[in-house]
Amino acid sequence: MDVLHVAAETGPWSKTGGLGDVASALPKALAKRGHRVVAVSPRYKEIPGAKDTGLRARFHLFGVDHEVRYHALESDGVVWVFVDNPCFTRGGIYGDSRGSYPDNLFRYALLTRAAIDVAARLPLVGGPLADDTVFHSNDWHTALLPSYLEAWRQMGRFTHAATVHGLHNCSHHGTAPSDSFAGLDLPLRFWPVLDMHGYVNPLKAGIVSADRLVTVSPTYAREITRTHGFGLEHLLAGRREQLVGILNGVDDAWDPKTDKHLPANFDVDDLSGKLKCKLELQRSLGLPVEGKVPLVSMIARLDHQKGIDLVEAITPWLMAQGAQLVMLGSGSEKYKAFFRETERRWPRQARGWYGFDESLAHKIEAGSDIFLMPSRFEPCGLNQMYSLRYGTVPVVHRTGGLADTVQSFDPDREVGTGWAFSPHDAGAFRDAIGFALVTWGRFPESWRRMQRRGMSQDFSWDRAGALYERLYAWAASSRRS
Ligand code: ADP
Repeated sequence: MDVLHVAAETGPWSKTGGLGDVASALPKALAKRGHRVVAVSPRYKEIPGAKDTGLRARFHLFGVDHEVRYHALESDGVVWVFVDNPCFTRGGIYGDSRGSYPDNLFRYALLTRAAIDVAARLPLVGGPLADDTVFHSNDWHTALLPSYLEAWRQMGRFTHAATVHGLHNCSHHGTAPSDSFAGLDLPLRFWPVLDMHGYVNPLKAGIVSADRLVTVSPTYAREITRTHGFGLEHLLAGRREQLVGILNGVDDAWDPKTDKHLPANFDVDDLSGKLKCKLELQRSLGLPVEGKVPLVSMIARLDHQKGIDLVEAITPWLMAQGAQLVMLGSGSEKYKAFFRETERRWPRQARGWYGFDESLAHKIEAGSDIFLMPSRFEPCGLNQMYSLRYGTVPVVHRTGGLADTVQSFDPDREVGTGWAFSPHDAGAFRDAIGFALVTWGRFPESWRRMQRRGMSQDFSWDRAGALYERLYAWAASSRRS
């Protein structure tokens, strides 16, 4: 298959969150499976190793002709194309300290149109991309791709191309005033596709017009048709038959056997290194170095979504159980005060590290016994998957990707990899942690088996790549029939 992937961010060159991870890992996984993949994103800054292809294009948008240049590099079997125009090189990705850039609709319409042009014109080994290329767009930024492609089809190109739109977070729609429609250079017949309550809503356009929709977990795929669709529930419900959920994979950098950040490595067959990681973590954080005290942790973007308020609510109880608590996060300032206060009240038991620290995140995952993730909603979630890989038993709210990756422990049947509590309140959360603490303290053999079950799960990108491959074939079949 030929696949054109387009996203507003692509790690490692541009990344603010999960979208950047997927846009980097999925093209590689598909190329590994033998597909020809071109991945397009903006050139926000100089990209080491990317060369100017010499190709130029002009697009009429918002009343003016805009020229773009294409830079490209090849690695991991993927052709990575970076669209160059002054609107992308302002320093930030989506905005700066004053907020989002006011012309983001223009910037990402330019990216989207350029991506289709790249598919049509980029000289590639083996000739141009095929007429039945699968176009995979993502989130609101590139959700106009099916509309622009439809406009192109009129010109006899990509008549059999299929479109797949990826939903990583339904809370951002890219809404703009209705008069911006005129600037997008789409025929007037597309207005009903983009219109939502009298506004231009790019995400809505992608949802109603892509051949297939995909989100990052099966449970989130169901939830957005009912409760977590941010006003798009009924449209998503109407497309239920074309919507699937595929869990993200975990990057190879998160493997306790080879992790370079750890003082000792370990794997499912030999967990002895994990205790060393715990003792070293306690020492480095100035906590009592004690293997027999349960170490509970949390790493999160400090946002209402992540349910930090529940952690706050149960902390006095958790401290009374004698556990240690280690928290790492950045974001909302109000949680910084919670971190400070917790450290002040329980200096021998708690640490709250406010900031973003990749290396510390690895050390915490490896050195903890129990990991907390009480998110209100969670499209996929990565930390619970890292925890499972690192033998750190997760306690999660039963929602979205958390529900799909963590199965609650059942001592009678000896199944489960952690605890998935519901409803989303402090009582249910505390009960689940209580159950975890008792199991950890009194039933070490059961605990070991639970750790091993978690560590044996397959969260590889190869697995996810195979599922995307099936999705693309399904999308392509819709264009043939
Ligand atoms: P989201 O994308 O909603 O923030 P995910 O669980 O999907 O949540 O991914 C979050 C990623 O960011 C994980 O890799 C996590 O380890 C990392 N992360 C979040 N906060 C921090 C932090 N303060 N320091 C280091 N890594 C962090």
